[in-house]
Amino acid sequence: MNIHEYQGKEVLRQYGVAVPRGKVAFTVDEAVKAAEELGTSVSVVKAQIHAGGRGKAGGVKVAKNLDEVRQYASDILGKVLVTHQTGPEGKEVKRLLIEEGCDIKKEYYVGLVVDRGTGRVVLMASEEGGTEIEEVAAHSPEKIIKEVVDPAIGLQTFQARRIAYAINIPNELVNKAAKFMLSLYQAFVDKDCSIAEINPLVVTGGGDVMALDAKLNFDSNALFRHKDILELRDLDEEDDKEIQASKYDLSYIALDGNIGCMVNGAGLAMATMDIIKYFGGEPANFLDVGGGATKEKVTEAFKIILSDANVKGIFVNIFGGIMKCDIIAEGVVAAARELGLDKPLVVRLEGTNVKLGKEILNNSGLNIVAADSMSDGAQKIVALVK
Ligand code: ADP
Ligand code: MG
Repeated sequence: MNIHEYQGKEVLRQYGVAVPRGKVAFTVDEAVKAAEELGTSVSVVKAQIHAGGRGKAGGVKVAKNLDEVRQYASDILGKVLVTHQTGPEGKEVKRLLIEEGCDIKKEYYVGLVVDRGTGRVVLMASEEGGTEIEEVAAHSPEKIIKEVVDPAIGLQTFQARRIAYAINIPNELVNKAAKFMLSLYQAFVDKDCSIAEINPLVVTGGGDVMALDAKLNFDSNALFRHKDILELRDLDEEDDKEIQASKYDLSYIALDGNIGCMVNGAGLAMATMDIIKYFGGEPANFLDVGGGATKEKVTEAFKIILSDANVKGIFVNIFGGIMKCDIIAEGVVAAARELGLDKPLVVRLEGTNVKLGKEILNNSGLNIVAADSMSDGAQKIVALVK
């Protein structure tokens, strides 16, 4: 789960990570009032959306007086911001962060991620802050310094100091920078983050080390033990279909293609997407209905797939292990009837009660194309949507 920058900074502040003072605003008046209360000569108006790259897209503006705050706030609020992370459709700005202006001397990058390669938390840093770290990684990977954290003892001070020296933090600020990284690490572990990215981390004219941006991602599987974080969820930032799916405990991710997929098991779902692409099609979603899906769940999954206007056909690819093929077939038929399915539907069933399942499909009177294998099914649905 993602949260907004201002929320992330609030979480970090609780851990002693230095962040600028700031306030959230939902209206232009609130923005001006927030700037007034901050009382700084320079304030920054920042669009709050769940995506980075706002600066380049005009979503971060430095205001030198309250009139400018009013001007920028009204420019940015309600605007659809298109950044390299939002996709071409962009995201509407509904909240602003009004923050004290910071006297930046230099921008750095610091990030914590769960690294699959080492199976550990890795601290990454670079003196090339401000720009996208992906660019640094592509053009000058030697400028990204890493420290792998041993989970038994956590991030050690010497590691944080080593990083601080390696990215050329001024000598007199190395201790502050190390403390910053240790606090960031504590927040990361305590809150079960999957990403904590500070880009930029800045050294200020006044000799402070601060987070000017904060991107925190949380492991959804751990949210049950972080009610405070769960409260920060902003449904406006999430895909409607994904919200609906999460209510029914379906793992659903919307994609840009036109073939809706209904699959059980994450591995099979990935393989299904691959094989559709292999035969020249584009999946409209990833959907794992889970091992023990009920008829109701299958129906709901169907509805979610069909509510996507881009979907031109559906491929159901199910292996009945724990879940029986006849249950799937009943769910498919019930959903197709209820929703008046008018799009091609290819079904491939295999496993427990497969005969019964196929009978139910054949006797349904619905226009369902049966497939004998995964590749047969993929080829059929790709041909049908073309
Ligand atoms: P994004 O990563 O989405 O572009 P950032 O929060 O990183 O947004 O802001 C972009 C740039 O704006 C920063 O690299 C920094 O130069 C400047 N900036 C952001 N916040 C402040 C601030 N409080 N004071 C001064 N400059 C800021
Ligand atoms: Mg940034």
